[in-house]
Amino acid sequence: MSKPLEVFTLVESMFALDGGAMFGIIPKPLWMRTNPADERNRIDLACRSMVVRYEDYDVLVDVGMGTRWNDKERDIYKIVGSTPEVKPLNVKHVILTHLHFDHAGGLSFLNDSNELQATFKDAKHWVQRANWGWAHTPSARDQGSYRPEELEIFEKGLAEIELIDGIAEILPGIEVLPMNGHTFGMQVVKVTTESGKVYAHLADLVPTTSHLRDPYVMGYDINPLDTVKEKREVLYEAAKSDWTLVFGHDPKTDMARVEMHDSVPKLVQA
Ligand SMILES: [Zn+2]
Repeated sequence: MSKPLEVFTLVESMFALDGGAMFGIIPKPLWMRTNPADERNRIDLACRSMVVRYEDYDVLVDVGMGTRWNDKERDIYKIVGSTPEVKPLNVKHVILTHLHFDHAGGLSFLNDSNELQATFKDAKHWVQRANWGWAHTPSARDQGSYRPEELEIFEKGLAEIELIDGIAEILPGIEVLPMNGHTFGMQVVKVTTESGKVYAHLADLVPTTSHLRDPYVMGYDINPLDTVKEKREVLYEAAKSDWTLVFGHDPKTDMARVEMHDSVPKLVQA
């Protein structure tokens, strides 16, 4: 089987989260310069999927917020869109970086008769086993990010789940790299195309281009020191090996490369 022909991104929806929570210990006057907050202190974010195109099918990495939100939630999270541009795709595999609602919400929808449907019912869905387990029994601190809605289609047998243990090449040219700082069993998805170009969807390891530097770690992360270490390792490798990075939540920048200047990662154009 041959490797992927091309990689591109699409924005499934836009939403917003508390700027303070997104930047952890960083003072607001600093993060405000790049990510202005609205009157409710929220900053704009994208839910960005990566599409990996093979000769006769596509692989989708993350599926965004989806449509299963009531009016109050739509207001809280400022959800705009949730009309996936995924329809023309021939999705045979869905890789979930992790099961947080802003990455996995689009796995299912309710049809006109209010029946639960899998969005990609014929696709194989890939998740790290550690994340699958944690999503079923999250801690009190992060249970707000894991909804039972995301697990339903698998429990009801409406879609196929494939659990991964650690680093693995799950499809030709697609490698998953587990990370445990943001949550247990998140995975960065690294793709090497037929022509040798390397892409990596960083998931919530580096959610936006404003999160490149060491202390810029989200307040949501359950093991922040692990995030710092994992982020360093991935960004050094990315700079050294000229990876094109996909930023899952950046409101503007979809892809970019990094260079290290005195150990500080700097953004350069993809
Ligand atoms: Zn997350």
